[in-house]
Amino acid sequence: MTGEQILSLWLGRFEAALTDRDIAAVTRLFHGDGYWRDILAFTWNIKTIEGADAIAQMLAATLARTLPSDWALHGEIEAEGATLTAGITFSTATAQGIGRITLKDGLCHTLLTVLDDLHGHEEPRRKTRPKGIEHVADRNRKTWAASRADEMARIGDQDQPYVLIVGGGQGGLALGARLRQLDVPTLIVDQNPRAGDSWRNRYRSLVLHDPVGYDHMPNLPFPQNWPVFTPKDKMGDWLECYAQIFELNIWQSTTCENARYDTANNQWQVQVARQGKTVTLRPRHLVFATGAYGPPRWPDWPGQSEFQGQLIHSSDYRNADAFIGKTCVVVGAGSSAHDIALDLWEAGASVTMVQRSSTTVVRSDTLMDLGFGIYSEDAQARGIDVEQADLIAAATPFALFCEEQKQLYRQIRQRDAGFYTRLAASGFAVDFGEDGSGLMMKALRTGSGYYIDVGASDLIASGEIAVVSGADVDGLTATGLVLEDGREIAADVVIACTGYQSMHETMASIVSRQAADATGPCWGLGSGVRGDPGPWQGELRNMWKPTAVNALWYHGGNLALSRFYSRFLALQLKARMEGIATPVYGAPAPHQSGL
Ligand SMILES: Cc1cc2nc3c(=O)[nH]c(=O)nc-3n(C[C@H](O)[C@H](O)[C@H](O)COP(=O)(O)OP(=O)(O)OC[C@H]3O[C@@H](n4cnc5c(N)ncnc54)[C@H](O)[C@@H]3O)c2cc1C
Repeated sequence: MTGEQILSLWLGRFEAALTDRDIAAVTRLFHGDGYWRDILAFTWNIKTIEGADAIAQMLAATLARTLPSDWALHGEIEAEGATLTAGITFSTATAQGIGRITLKDGLCHTLLTVLDDLHGHEEPRRKTRPKGIEHVADRNRKTWAASRADEMARIGDQDQPYVLIVGGGQGGLALGARLRQLDVPTLIVDQNPRAGDSWRNRYRSLVLHDPVGYDHMPNLPFPQNWPVFTPKDKMGDWLECYAQIFELNIWQSTTCENARYDTANNQWQVQVARQGKTVTLRPRHLVFATGAYGPPRWPDWPGQSEFQGQLIHSSDYRNADAFIGKTCVVVGAGSSAHDIALDLWEAGASVTMVQRSSTTVVRSDTLMDLGFGIYSEDAQARGIDVEQADLIAAATPFALFCEEQKQLYRQIRQRDAGFYTRLAASGFAVDFGEDGSGLMMKALRTGSGYYIDVGASDLIASGEIAVVSGADVDGLTATGLVLEDGREIAADVVIACTGYQSMHETMASIVSRQAADATGPCWGLGSGVRGDPGPWQGELRNMWKPTAVNALWYHGGNLALSRFYSRFLALQLKARMEGIATPVYGAPAPHQSGL
């Protein structure tokens, strides 16, 4: 049989078993340790179901109402030995679905099912795009500009948004654009004066560490001559244009101060400070898009008040102007610490990096060659556009992605062995994660402890940037820092690159401690490594899916994750607005309203 015949046969049996509601027959089509990752189509959740027993449980709860049908293969079939992979399409009672399937020796190893469009509420695009104008004579014609101005004047006043997004960084804007496409009335509030400021406000030298093919915003890919690595101010300007192009309703210079759920009216009461006044908004849903990593984590070192130099957090570092000729100590050894150390060195400051524990470092060139395959120019030339690449990426459950990454990092370590030897010789401690799974897994597990080398590592290896490794800061003195092991380091300036707290801490300060405790932290997979305690979740905690607090959502991530998952958060909100039943399988806890 050809690969296509094997896949078609499997899909036919799968469809027959689902139609007959014969769950045992469905699970017999999977390997015992097979995976089914579902994004909304069956579960109205983002869920990886691991193993045949768990798949049976999920189907017992969801199959009767999902009513899946019309399963078909879609696109090219990939074959590698006894492994066959293909795209699929299907339909459910409420939606059109897409996905991917991988068979090994004729049985399913991984299945991805994704809700793509709600029946009757399809996203207008291509042939169904809006017309933009009525070609009839009309004495009361309202121009597009007048209608837009009217909409902006009314929203938040006569018209309440269905969704309020707090935070208009790339995450808030991507979600805003998705919701606009689905015709969900939305308002974004951001405390910064201009869209894109969340990138502009960062330090002078910041350039995106990921390549252009991975970083597109939804529905508006970067032009073909856009640089591989986008400088932060250029990114800021792109986001500002993006907000205009997608006609997003944004209130800039507006700070969300508090939010309470009004159970009697099933809506939020949100107070925002705008133009010197407090305005109360009443959205049905509240989305926190206040920064992938939440508020800065300020150190609480003894002796801070005695220190006669300057102490700042990395989030407040803009450039080295004030530090030229000074003795600077960067505390931390992640991305910001490296970038800031490099920036200070370029300005002629003396720089020492204090590294508490080891860091995963990977050379940018190496990662570009080996780590972004499906988002590369070569992939594009093979016809894999960004939407397909996102689907392919989503088809690998996190547990298997981790194994793939271990393999990748074995390759990387071999290829760059000389680089790692030189770096280690400087006293800088390198790791590849507790289980050797490297940088991307660290990013998913803790969002910290890694650096894509864009120049600082060579300076560390050559001693231009000094490094003191293996001890935490014990406290500050009048003239510098003391480490736990007694070492003293003189400093005029201490820059704490100590990272950020989980986004639920921002939510705590706006809604309540009780609500934040109810949802628990954002991010992390429950992998059991330091900083990411178990139990294993199989998915990122709380991101883009229902939380334990009714009508409260979290959104964020790097550009790629924001791009992909903003669509599913938007679809969940659209379904709720349209009154479509959205029973959540595996909800985190009983929903609590009135918090
Ligand atoms: C050094 C560095 C390099 C990075 N490199 C990359 C990269 O190469 N590729 C990549 O994809 N990602 C990268 N990231 C990570 C990530 O993409 C960014 O942190 C990104 O800005 C997250 O977007 P966001 O919209 O979730 O949050 P932010 O951009 O932080 O936006 C949050 C917004 O919320 C607003 N806000 C917060 N609280 C309130 C409130 N109470 N009221 C009103 N507004 C509020 C803020 O003003 C802000 O505009 C990098 C991050 C850093 C620090």
